[in-house]
Amino acid sequence: MAAIQSLLHRDRLWTFHGGIHVPDEKALSNSRPVEVMPLPTRLVIPLQQHIGATARPVVTVGERVLKGQLLAQAEGYVSACIHASSSGTLVAIEPHPVPHPSGLSALCAVIETDGEDAWTELPEPMTHYGQLDVAEIRERIRWAGVVGLGGASFPTSVKLNPGPDQRIRTLIINGAECEPYITCDDLLMRERAGDILAGARIMHHLLGDPRILIGIEDNKPEAFEAMRFALAETDMKGYTEIRSIPTLYPSGGEKQLIRILTGEEVPTHAIPARIGIVCQNVGSAAAVADAVLEGRPLISRVVTVTGRAIAEPRNLEVRIGTPVSDLIAHCGGYRERPRKLVCGGPMMGFEIAHPEIPVTKPANCVLALTEAETPDAGPALACIRCGRCAEVCPAKLLPQQLYWHARAKDLDRVQDYNLFDCIECGCCAQVCPSHIPLVQYYRYAKNEVWAREEEKRKAELARMRHEAKQVRLERQERERKARLRRKKESLEAGPEKGQTDQEAKKAAIEAAKQRAAAKKAAAAKAEETNDA
Ligand code: SF4
Ligand code: SF4
Repeated sequence: MAAIQSLLHRDRLWTFHGGIHVPDEKALSNSRPVEVMPLPTRLVIPLQQHIGATARPVVTVGERVLKGQLLAQAEGYVSACIHASSSGTLVAIEPHPVPHPSGLSALCAVIETDGEDAWTELPEPMTHYGQLDVAEIRERIRWAGVVGLGGASFPTSVKLNPGPDQRIRTLIINGAECEPYITCDDLLMRERAGDILAGARIMHHLLGDPRILIGIEDNKPEAFEAMRFALAETDMKGYTEIRSIPTLYPSGGEKQLIRILTGEEVPTHAIPARIGIVCQNVGSAAAVADAVLEGRPLISRVVTVTGRAIAEPRNLEVRIGTPVSDLIAHCGGYRERPRKLVCGGPMMGFEIAHPEIPVTKPANCVLALTEAETPDAGPALACIRCGRCAEVCPAKLLPQQLYWHARAKDLDRVQDYNLFDCIECGCCAQVCPSHIPLVQYYRYAKNEVWAREEEKRKAELARMRHEAKQVRLERQERERKARLRRKKESLEAGPEKGQTDQEAKKAAIEAAKQRAAAKKAAAAKAEETNDA
């Protein structure tokens, strides 16, 4: 303990509350260089691969599309563009199973590839970005569809626009990759350290020149060396530091990494920008460099294909839209029948129901676990209130309290206990001696809260509509009464000055005739228009 403390002090590191040591299993996949996946015959590209609104399709079925061509335009501020990852024919835009914990389908663009892999004309590189307006650079990043590649998939252009009142003092580049098994960021740092730094430098420019801190867990010494070597080649040394941090899950969580590197705490319900910090994944930094310096949209990513059920685990550069089954086949198929196929890591990933689902931008890992890797925990027992879950919770929550209230469907109480600060890291469930699937309760409670909020929103909308209708009906009734009153008054007023009763009667009949003729002419005109 004393050794860790002195290390923390020497490297100016802090520690976060809780966390656990888990077998990292990184050696399974980190010994080979990244391999480029061959072109698949069919690409299924979801139109929503990010947090925010689904992108709007801008292509038509039957059209020939080119690699890098825009398929769907970002719709709204929090959204991201989607591009074709190879050339071919767009054969459908239809619902298809996608990587999502719900297992539901979503709208996808389906391309039958033509084998040519022909690029569309790309925008000019912005190598002189230092002379450009920051809004123009952000627009390029938005066009390129760059999102957080660490799993959160928040549109990067939005994160790089914290607003005029927000001074960003620190940009953190997240190379911690703390989930067991996953090594795609490790390999990216080893192989594309220069691009990651180039992307970090662009972000530094966009955020008003903050300092840059790069955090890498100390179980990735080669990545650390590659990044250090690349940094020495740049003129970024004056404002950039690379720090090796102790391996402890979940040090790659945004709030945990901020705490480790700066000692600062992000307040509950707040985003890091509130305390002057922006955090970006190493993959997103490389994608920003591709977009700005080469005009290339985000159409592929590095994916770790691993687990002891995979014959040859490794990292692959994969086109977005490639079926997961292709990745597994490329890695030699299964060594043994997997008990569980997971998208993401074993702690925060979710089980894949369908091996034909496509790779998306946030999909960093495909994990095929054997029986031995997923031993049966046995049935959940009663909570014994031992408090171990609270000891390891990195968000400083009271997991057992959350569990009780989620179980009782007491949605107000779970929110009182800051349910939405839970990052679903799974530390609490991992140490629970009663094997209670705690995270499942929290996910359920979050969904219930969201559903309740949605119900409230709909009810409020219905109330406003009802009130508006009442106001309209009352107005119409007032107008009708006013018309009747005026008519009555004019009848009571009698004939105009100088008119005999006979003449007044004649004038009223003439006016009625004119009104009827006008009505008939209007009806005839309407009929003509309909026929036309
Ligand atoms: S670790 Fe499990 S048994 Fe212990 S208090 Fe938490 S929920 Fe209850
Ligand atoms: S899953 Fe949530 S409650 Fe459990 S340890 Fe992680 S942050 Fe805490």
